[in-house]
Amino acid sequence: MTAENIPRATAKRLPIYYRYLNILHDTGKSRISSTELAEAVQVDSATIRRDFSYFGALGKRGYGYDGDSLLSFFKQILNQEHLTNVALIGVGNLGHALLNFNFHKDGNVRISAAFDTNDAIVNKIQDGVPVYPITELAHQLKEQQIQVVILTVPSSAAQGVTDDAVAGGVKGILNFTPIRLAVPDAVLVQNVDLTNELQTLIYFIENFGK
Ligand code: ATP
Repeated sequence: MTAENIPRATAKRLPIYYRYLNILHDTGKSRISSTELAEAVQVDSATIRRDFSYFGALGKRGYGYDGDSLLSFFKQILNQEHLTNVALIGVGNLGHALLNFNFHKDGNVRISAAFDTNDAIVNKIQDGVPVYPITELAHQLKEQQIQVVILTVPSSAAQGVTDDAVAGGVKGILNFTPIRLAVPDAVLVQNVDLTNELQTLIYFIENFGK
């Protein structure tokens, strides 16, 4: 089974499983019942069984799952052994917070380059990460073989910067702007609209909260 054959919904849950199995591993426990796992990751056990079935029958009836073998399996699938370098574009308030965020703690991701237009911060090291002028974006992405970018620029700059990132060979964009980006089919965009998420939450509390 290769990562391409796994359904998207399953693939999205893999990091959740992986993260929890890492925690389990750190506690020195390796065997876990399917109920325990379901509770810990907040995914129902039928879904877990179906997800795991894509990787062959990994659970044993009456035994549960062997955490360590699952862990090494997911590690391989998620390519966790390799550190993925990601670029951050726009070192404003949000970008700055993300630079400080420790993605690498139990994952495989780190921000290795940042880009901005602001002369006061470019060509400097910010929180351990070099900040390049935005004019160097396409060139640096190619040079450093960075395929994923986090977009935290103002909305007005989002599409222009995206076009440059695409020219630099980017394969995925984590988009924190509210703009729906136009990209070629081969480029994946994951939208994170914090304002929208918060408003949805408030709407649900006001309308359905008891
Ligand atoms: P945030 O929206 O993250 O809270 P902010 O309010 O501090 O940030 P914004 O005006 O949203 O500032 O800009 C975010 C960052 O993006 C700033 O550091 C700004 O210099 C940078 N920026 C603006 N235009 C561009 C661009 N075209 N390319 C790259 N960076 C840009």
